[in-house]
Amino acid sequence: MAALAGLFTIHYSPFTIHHQRSAKILYQEPGRDIEAAMNRREKIIRIYDALESHFGDLGWWPADTPFEVMVGAVLTQNTAWANVAKAITRIKEKGLLSPQAMLRTTDSKLAERIRPAGYFRVKTKRLKELCRFLMNECGGDPGLFSRIGTGSLREKLLLVNGIGPETADSILLYALDRPVFVVDAYTRRIFGRHRIFSGEVSYDDLKDAGESAFSEDRKKLNQMHALIVETAKKYCKKNSPKCGKCPLFSFMPKGRAKSPEKTKRNKERTTKGNNGRKDIENSRRSGPGSR
Ligand code: SF4
Repeated sequence: MAALAGLFTIHYSPFTIHHQRSAKILYQEPGRDIEAAMNRREKIIRIYDALESHFGDLGWWPADTPFEVMVGAVLTQNTAWANVAKAITRIKEKGLLSPQAMLRTTDSKLAERIRPAGYFRVKTKRLKELCRFLMNECGGDPGLFSRIGTGSLREKLLLVNGIGPETADSILLYALDRPVFVVDAYTRRIFGRHRIFSGEVSYDDLKDAGESAFSEDRKKLNQMHALIVETAKKYCKKNSPKCGKCPLFSFMPKGRAKSPEKTKRNKERTTKGNNGRKDIENSRRSGPGSR
């Protein structure tokens, strides 16, 4: 009887109840996080599969050397890829497409070459910073970076003036073949509209979500960013998404997809509201886009 009373007391004492509640909370919170992460992962993989079967292999990034990709990643900041392609052609015409040659030429000559890419004075400085970084870290041969881990290399790139997370990750993925997920405004837009995350989300959280969906699969990480850019350019416009024609239409959360009629109305409203102004964000690109 005493033993039973003891058991009874232990089982229902306020301390135990509090302890059980705490334990339950401690147990449930990580569980919910894991479930949310798994849902995100599944959604991202389904989006990838649908987009790849629609667009096929986009073959990013069209370039002859890793250095050319790096130059493109800097030049494409705040401009359309067509302008970057012109600038790179002009750099090649003068034989300047190497860190050594770029550092040898004057700022004004380099700026003149990259003028079509816009912000050419700022970008000249950024390119020269990148070249100095390459000369100091690997003697101008990016192949020698193979000895450095992806995390350390990313930290080093982020210390270069003018290289932010998006440019650093584009360089890591497309120039150096590292398994990273590139996050840009298009990624935020599509992931936001598909409620992969709700509310404000950091660059690193989006990056982690993409990387956990494809783990170390560099080919899929390469293709995923290309697919996102292509989808945003063709369908997921900032002000007038063409959901009815988009390969991701069936994945839209209930009540959020824009029907073709709504899209048409939105477009009319946007055109009136903008007074014919161009959508600036749509002219920004974080990579080469379709050829
Ligand atoms: S256009 Fe619509 S369906 Fe397509 S990605 Fe954007 S929000 Fe989703």
